[in-house]
Amino acid sequence: MCGIFGIEGHEEAAYFTYLGLYALQHRGQESAGLVSWDEAQMHVERGMGEVADIFKPRVLSRLEGRRAIGHTRYSTSGTSVLNNAQPVVVNTSMGPLAIVHNGNLPDSHLVRQRLEKEGSIFQTTSDTEVILHLMARNPRERIVDSLLSALQEVQGAYSLLLVTENGLIAARDPYGFRPLLMAECQGGTAFASESCAFDLLEATRVEELQPGEVVVVQGDNIERYHLPPVHKPSRCAFEHVYFARPDSNIFGDSVSSVRTAMGRLLAEESPANAEIVVPVPDSGLFPALGFSKKSGIPFELGLIRNHYVGRTFIQPQQSIRDFGVRVKLNPVRQLIEGKKVVLVDDSIVRGTTSRKIVRMVRDAGAKEIHLRISSPPTRWPCHYGIDTPRREELIAARWELDEICGYIEADSLAYLSLEGLLGCLSGEPASYCTACWNGDYRVPMTADPRQGRLFPISTEDADR
Ligand code: AMP
Repeated sequence: MCGIFGIEGHEEAAYFTYLGLYALQHRGQESAGLVSWDEAQMHVERGMGEVADIFKPRVLSRLEGRRAIGHTRYSTSGTSVLNNAQPVVVNTSMGPLAIVHNGNLPDSHLVRQRLEKEGSIFQTTSDTEVILHLMARNPRERIVDSLLSALQEVQGAYSLLLVTENGLIAARDPYGFRPLLMAECQGGTAFASESCAFDLLEATRVEELQPGEVVVVQGDNIERYHLPPVHKPSRCAFEHVYFARPDSNIFGDSVSSVRTAMGRLLAEESPANAEIVVPVPDSGLFPALGFSKKSGIPFELGLIRNHYVGRTFIQPQQSIRDFGVRVKLNPVRQLIEGKKVVLVDDSIVRGTTSRKIVRMVRDAGAKEIHLRISSPPTRWPCHYGIDTPRREELIAARWELDEICGYIEADSLAYLSLEGLLGCLSGEPASYCTACWNGDYRVPMTADPRQGRLFPISTEDADR
């Protein structure tokens, strides 16, 4: 869960990158960083916190050059410390290199152990640095050749941007797990995790990099390379469910349209006898709209989200029941009281938040609460860059539907079917990663680093 942005060939490269990161803030709020290249040296700024906390005018004016990349981080690999903030910058015999990465390399610890045994000294605990070490140990005349060779030694999810002395390089893994788009941006060439980052910058000719595509940009010159293809691409369907911004287009589909279609289908598959449809903001907004449109049940904003809640807040001395959720969400009693409510959210992970929300809506006077979820039960952890807890903590991995419904204290509970979800996407169903729902992990893994044991990689195991 990270956002990346980069631009080559623009006088205000760092400023544009800063704006791009602002638009990608939802993809990670733990740390952010930016590197620019001014034809003589790299300028680096990284910090803990959100983009607005880190980049002040004085900082930005120092980041000179016509080439820049940036990153917003949410750690899924490596700990949450400044040292792990990206971009990672190193000096190699091919010159200085800076990299940003969205995704996760599940087996990178094995490559890392091998490299460490052979003498490599790592600066960070994040998986991204492995790619730089592999490059540094295999220098080539053209840096892209070194990158192409390094990428064939790692497997997993990566959308990458690199700044080198000679240009900006973008790469998307052959599975295409994470999105990565390219656009023309006021004379320069820009790359971003999501199209919403291009809108403010009035970018044109937006296109998505193909899975396995590597693009090198130097001034106006663009060269394209391809990594060896894999059996099936595996675009992360959960990006459409939860992670991406609804005003983005990724994997060839508008996120808001997909979410609305999911809500419509949910109403068809699992109707509810209710008087109002209430979204859990923000992730439930579009599916709830779709549910309401299809069912004819009026849409009401019965829960209000406080958008100014930061990552941490001071807990009161006296305990307040369900404080963490209630500080973020508050019910509108006038809309809910005495009503039969369809509550729509995108997913249930542990179930703890959903239980608190149902309780809160009940306390606001709802007569009945029918929880509808616009994705299938999350039963398997993600190893490709979405932050999910261990399998034991996923409520749907342990319990059946009626048990989950009982725990959550809803009057009824239904999830969208996997076939239904895939039908809302325009690509071939087999071209999406659905591992979090059915355990179909497409990248072979030797061991699961989080659980410290062998992890199933076959679909037979996944069907259990
Ligand atoms: P819970 O009931 O505790 O499982 O929380 C469910 C809520 O978590 C839903 O509103 C989801 O939108 C949200 N959610 C889903 N996936 C994630 C994730 N990877 N990180 C943070 N929140 C998530």
